[in-house]
Amino acid sequence: MSVTLTDLTAPEGYERLVLAEAPRHGLRALICLHSTVLGPAAGGCRMWAYDNDDQAIHDVTRLARGMTHKNAMADLGLGGGKAVIFGDARTDKTPDMMRAFGEAVETLAGTYWTAEDVGISPADMAFAAERTRFAVGLSGASGDPSPWTAEGVFRCLRVGSGHVFGTEDLTGRRVLVQGLGHVGLSLAEKLAKAGARLIVTDIHAAALKDAMTRLGAVVCAPDAVFDQQIEIFAPCALGGILTERTVGELSASLVCGAANNQLADDALALRLEAAGITYLPDYVVNAGGIISVASEIHGKPDAWRLERLTAIAARVSQMLTTAREAGQAPAAIADEMVRTMLSGRRAA
Ligand code: NAD
Repeated sequence: MSVTLTDLTAPEGYERLVLAEAPRHGLRALICLHSTVLGPAAGGCRMWAYDNDDQAIHDVTRLARGMTHKNAMADLGLGGGKAVIFGDARTDKTPDMMRAFGEAVETLAGTYWTAEDVGISPADMAFAAERTRFAVGLSGASGDPSPWTAEGVFRCLRVGSGHVFGTEDLTGRRVLVQGLGHVGLSLAEKLAKAGARLIVTDIHAAALKDAMTRLGAVVCAPDAVFDQQIEIFAPCALGGILTERTVGELSASLVCGAANNQLADDALALRLEAAGITYLPDYVVNAGGIISVASEIHGKPDAWRLERLTAIAARVSQMLTTAREAGQAPAAIADEMVRTMLSGRRAA
């Protein structure tokens, strides 16, 4: 199995952008190391049928930068990186493709740790792990990170509710979960158990039917998300869902979800704040999965994982208090915290 790695020009402020190719095994992937200032870069591998290379580069670079922020805020001793594999995860993925991807990761010699993201399961990661020491989120080890992500988002959503509505009690609260995948479905189950009035959407009908019958959820069409009268919006599909237009249409007072890069543009955090919508930064609230993965990288026990997960909600609470006192958006407070951490380490 031979994988070719080609260094592409990394965007300013990024350490490395690599194209990994193994045509015989159908592998074409990008691996981006945004920052290794706080430790080796860590972040999941996504498989997606991108329309073109520019779209994939945009995705992997934004995601890698998000991982630097996420890992810093969760205090994991890890930098930020991400990988994307070109292709449809439902039809194009093969064990050999994942093995070739593992080989590419191994070639990076521990500067990048990979795990699952959209389109990649623990079973897929196991094939990659046959060829690299730097694949985690494996069954029998830390396992699927998604339930940890969902639990972290749920806890933060409660904290956010306390801040916005004056109570963490979710009984009767109208919450829309967009995307019922690994994280979204688990989050929807927790919300249903907590008594929320659930509205759900997905582009795949099977997941919706289950949520309707089992969780009593109301279904809306994927393109009708911003027509719904809701109190909390939980984006758990793909990024870029909050744009200048959709922010104007959003009826929710709180946004808290698992999707990475929910804001199409960072400046929208201010726009949301001005519209009276509290946006909990995605990279702060969705760190449960990487915390789980980090426990495997660092060889830490379950207690460590739980302690870090609990710390996310405490951090969100602190962030919201500081933001309110300073009259700033929570995202501005979080971004500033990350900048301080990175510049402190660089100076050291
Ligand atoms: P997944 O692939 O299991 O689920 C995504 C779901 O969203 C799928 O059911 C898909 O059909 C649906 N979807 C896609 N486009 C949609 C649209 N336009 N409208 C409605 N539904 C749509 O992925 P996941 O692991 O659940 O991750 C969800 C999001 O959370 C991603 O953005 C991912 O990067 C992020 N995230 C995941 C983890 C994790 O632990 N899995 C950790 C951090 C962040």
